[in-house]
This record gives sequence, structure tokens and C-alpha cells, in this order.
Amino acid sequence: MAENRDAAEIQAAAEQGAAAEVLAAAAQGAGAEVQAADAQTTEAVQPRKLLSVVVSVYNEEEALPLFYREAGKILDLCGWDYELIFVNDGSVDRSREILYQISKDDPKVRVIHFSRNFGHEAAMIAGIDHASGDAVICMDADLQHPPAMIPEIVRRFTAGYDVVNMIRLSNHSAGLIKNITSGGFYAVINFVSGTKFEKNASDFFGVSRRAADVLRQNYRERVRFLRGYVQSMGFLRTNLEYEAADRAAGHSKYSIRKLFRFSMNTIMSFSDLPLRLGIYAGAASAIFGLLLLIYSLVEKVRHGAPNGYTTIIVVICFMFSVLFLLVGIIGQYIGILFQEIKARPIYLVEETVNFPEKQGE
Ligand code: UDP
Ligand code: MG
Repeated sequence: MAENRDAAEIQAAAEQGAAAEVLAAAAQGAGAEVQAADAQTTEAVQPRKLLSVVVSVYNEEEALPLFYREAGKILDLCGWDYELIFVNDGSVDRSREILYQISKDDPKVRVIHFSRNFGHEAAMIAGIDHASGDAVICMDADLQHPPAMIPEIVRRFTAGYDVVNMIRLSNHSAGLIKNITSGGFYAVINFVSGTKFEKNASDFFGVSRRAADVLRQNYRERVRFLRGYVQSMGFLRTNLEYEAADRAAGHSKYSIRKLFRFSMNTIMSFSDLPLRLGIYAGAASAIFGLLLLIYSLVEKVRHGAPNGYTTIIVVICFMFSVLFLLVGIIGQYIGILFQEIKARPIYLVEETVNFPEKQGE
């Protein structure tokens, strides 16, 4: 079929060849006008683009109504159609009821209720999975990610960018300890991993549909660092700075312990340098041992007696601590492998509200 059509087209083109040349000159002038008119019609006919805003919610009963009011006002004016996807990550306060209420009155609000708490990252992934927009923005429910930035993010999408990284200018509310540990974390991960991570990038970011598709299809690890994927997957990227506000209400859901575990997992899922530490430590201790051997032999020849108890104790303690550290690191990696092999679901949906039929689960 296709071949026949091709052949017919070629023949027709050959017959028209001479005439076409004559017409070409005339058409050139008119062509520009026709093209412009075409562009106008397509623009008029094209439906408005759809923006999906994904908001992770864990015990945000106080912040939710504020967020909804604030974000709604701005989204109504952003120039795109929108859907506001709240992912209720197993909240145990009144967030669930509030979300029922909001989604009952506003069809643009869609809600995914998890069966339990799966964590912020899982919530963002679920939101992206369920989003049907031409672009997706992820943000927190506590108004630390100012909805006022949305129109600028939308402008970047319109300009053709695929990834909009939001860079936090300052974070007063995080506190000194969190700021220091976060600085340390980025120093380590940038040192050990091939990817360069933006220090102040946040879980506030925007991705175009094709970038979101990559997240939906290719980054399905159990131990994840979504922000890292967004920064390392390439495409046309742009950075946008914002001033992090104080939490609108409630308190932070990330404890230092949670953050530490998260940081360790992230470093290990983005780098295998810690695994190779064993080789470096082995080489270093071999050199050290050799020097010690030479020293002991020289001492034996010169004084005829074996040297010091202290040296032995120090060396044994040091060697054992290195050994245990390395075993621990290997254990961590095996733990990650174990999780990936089990391939348990990243999240479990208990209920979805206001999603078009095909997306309900
Ligand atoms: N969050 C979540 N699941 C969790 C912890 C937090 O969905 O297990 C949400 C939380 O409701 C908020 C966002 O993730 O919208 C960021 O959390 P939080 O503000 O507590 O973190 P911080 O801004 O202090 O780093
Ligand atoms: Mg916050």
C-alpha cells in the first residue's frame, strides 16, 4: 500500500516538476503570507495547555486551606488550564476531610489518598504518575514554595524548557543544624558522584510532559532521589531562584534522623565510590604495613629486640575500625539491592478523587 502510494506521488511530482518551477517564484512572495495566516489559525484552534500541580500532603490540616486559597488565586491567572493534584501521604490529622471538602466543590482538584505514609518522594512520584498535563510542577503544601512563582515557571515552559529547577535563595526556617548538614551532604555527594548537584535545589521543580514521561517510565527505583533525577536527566534546563518562605502553619515532617537516612541512601544510589573505598584502604594499609615491616627489621638489627606493645594495639584498633566501616558500607549497598530486588510498590493508592475514569485505580 505504502509503496504504491509513494510511486504515485513520485510520478505526480515528476509531471508537475516543470510547472512547479515556474510557479515557485510566484509562490515565494505569497508563501510568507499564507504561512503567517496558518500560524494564526493553528494558534486560535490550539486548546489551552494543561498544567498539573502536584502537592504532597502529610498532616497539613492547618496549611492546606491556606495553600489552596493562595495557589488557586494564582493558577486561575496563569494562562494555562490546570489540575491541582493533592497526594495525601497517609495523613493522620484532618487533612483527608479537608481534601474531600475541597475536591467536592472544585473539579480541578484531584486527590490521591495513599494507604499509609510512603514518604514525600513517593508522594511526588504518584502525583507525576497521575498527572495528565503538558507540564508538571511539584511543590510542598506548607507555602514554603511560593505559588507566586508559578506564572514564571509556566513562562519558562512556554519558552520551550523541559526542566525548571527552583533554587532556594535562603532558608531561615530550616534552622542552623539542617542548613549545615544539608551543606555537608551536597559537599559529599558532589565529591563522590559523577553528577553535579545544585546545592540549593529543592523539591520545588517543574518538568515538561516529555521529562515527566521519563520520570514515569525510567526512574522507578525504590531508593530514590527525585530532585537528583530531575537535575541529572538532561533536556533543556533552566534555573529559577526563589525566596523560601517560612512554613505557613504546622511543623516540619522531616526529622534529622529521616534526613540522615535519606542522605546515606542518596549518596549510595548515585555513587559506587564508597564501595571502592575498600580497595583504597587496602592499598594504604599495605603501604603502611610495608613501612612498619622495614622499620621493625631495622630496629631488630640495631637493637636486637622486638618493638613496642603500643604500636600493635594502635594498628589493630585502626585496622579493625577501617574493616568494620567497609563491611558496614557493603551492608548498606546490599540493603539497597535487596530493596530493589524485592520490587515492592513505591506507593499504594487507597482512593482517587476527581480523576478522569481511565486514571482511577
Ligand atoms: N511530606 C509528605 N510525606 C512525608 C513528609 C512530608 O508528603 O512523609 C510533605 C509535607 O506535607 C510537605 C512536604 O512534604 O508538603 C515537605 O515536608 P516538610 O515541609 O515537612 O519538609 P521541610 O520543608 O521542613 O524540609
Ligand atoms: Mg516545608
